[in-house]
Amino acid sequence: MPNYHIAIVGAGPAGYFTAQAFQKAQTIDLTFSIDMIERLPTPWGLVRSGVAPDHPKIKTVSKVFEKIAKVDGFRLFANVELGKDVSLKDLRENYDAVVLATGSAVGRKLGIKGEDLPNCISAADFVPWYNAHPDFKDVSVDLNTDTAVVIGAGNVAMDVARMLALDPAELDPTDTAEHALKVLKASKIRRVIICGRRGPEHAAFTAPELRDLPKLEHTDVYIDQVQIDQANLRVERMGEVEKDLKNNLEAMRLIAEHSKKGVERKLELKFLAAPIGIKGGTKVEEIIFTINEVKNGKVSATDKTFSIKAGLVVTAIGYDAVEYPGIKIEYGRISNIAGHVEHNIYVTGWAKRGPVGVIGTNKSDSADVVDLIIDSLKEPKNTAGIESLLKSGHKVVDQVGWEKINAAEVISGELAGKPRLKEVDWNKLINLGHS
Ligand code: NAP
Repeated sequence: MPNYHIAIVGAGPAGYFTAQAFQKAQTIDLTFSIDMIERLPTPWGLVRSGVAPDHPKIKTVSKVFEKIAKVDGFRLFANVELGKDVSLKDLRENYDAVVLATGSAVGRKLGIKGEDLPNCISAADFVPWYNAHPDFKDVSVDLNTDTAVVIGAGNVAMDVARMLALDPAELDPTDTAEHALKVLKASKIRRVIICGRRGPEHAAFTAPELRDLPKLEHTDVYIDQVQIDQANLRVERMGEVEKDLKNNLEAMRLIAEHSKKGVERKLELKFLAAPIGIKGGTKVEEIIFTINEVKNGKVSATDKTFSIKAGLVVTAIGYDAVEYPGIKIEYGRISNIAGHVEHNIYVTGWAKRGPVGVIGTNKSDSADVVDLIIDSLKEPKNTAGIESLLKSGHKVVDQVGWEKINAAEVISGELAGKPRLKEVDWNKLINLGHS
């Protein structure tokens, strides 16, 4: 009975759904031993360090991950870094297939003057900072300003803007990092402006996230009704309107029309505003935009500009995949054809298709890659697994170790009235895993 050894690199949603697809494909005649390798001492990827803390429902998918981890043949090797603790070549030679599920963690740059000023922060740093990612606990975030601008019209921009615009007391019952909560509680920000470079009809927000905005209890949300009306006219003129777009525009219309509470905290969505420069002395002070227009479905710059005085700019304009020795990055993704990289190396998730799609998108994507792998499997290699590749004494956090970390965080969270209190110190996490 052939048993194949599979290495999955990256313990985020794409990695777990890959493991699940292998588990589902098992028969009496075909079995898989799955080693999941993760750089951090903790698994769950973006479910732990990406999903906004005020959206706890999205995180319940972690229950699925834990079920996958309990299936025979699954092993977790956290605190093991590809390219440092183990090479891709070694994995390739020791496993029947290697699946890279390493995501896209590098924030794209605007490429405009002033972007490197202090307090112009990429969402790739800001989001893991408030989510207690151990590598980002020391990100310098200064909220001593009344206005923040978030660049980008996607769901990450919306998460970031909400986190800045909420009454921080609303974050008390969440797993927001303690260091971030402290800074957010002292925040002077009362106006957060999301700026999209194209029209409302081109925004990458999704309707459920837009519909949640008017429900914010302590924040008023504004959209210029005229911008929404004009967008509606433009799309109607172009012919039949696709369902998702219709829902988005409808959700935006509701935001524009809903009655405001008259509270101090404000969140605004602006469109057709393309950032062209950031000004400031010792930190960000002002951001300059070109006003764009849409003509015949095409977006172009006008000769008009405007500026917003703001002491914080967060860019949420997409991500690129992280480079590893031996891996080629093309257009921000690991270069691949339908998930095949080269030899017995495959890729899935954001690293494969770019940073698009919600957590569930990874399920079908990973299932397709697993089908491709199974079709190309040859004789099992029966080589030694990752243990033989790691230096002796390397402190792996295995599934049991992770369960200890998880339990410790949940217990301290219970005492504080939160789902968990995340440990942010890398060494403490490893020690907890070995306690
Ligand atoms: P995204 O959805 O691709 O949005 C990126 C935004 O950045 C777009 O509006 C894009 O505008 C803009 N942008 C790109 N380059 C720019 C530039 N140079 N100047 C100004 N704007 C620029 O990416 P994301 O927000 O990072 O989200 C990634 C994926 O995760 C998405 O599929 C998203 O739905 C998902 N996600 C889901 C949730 C949720 O379900 N709650 C939460 C977070 C993320 P253009 O369109 O003009 O390029």
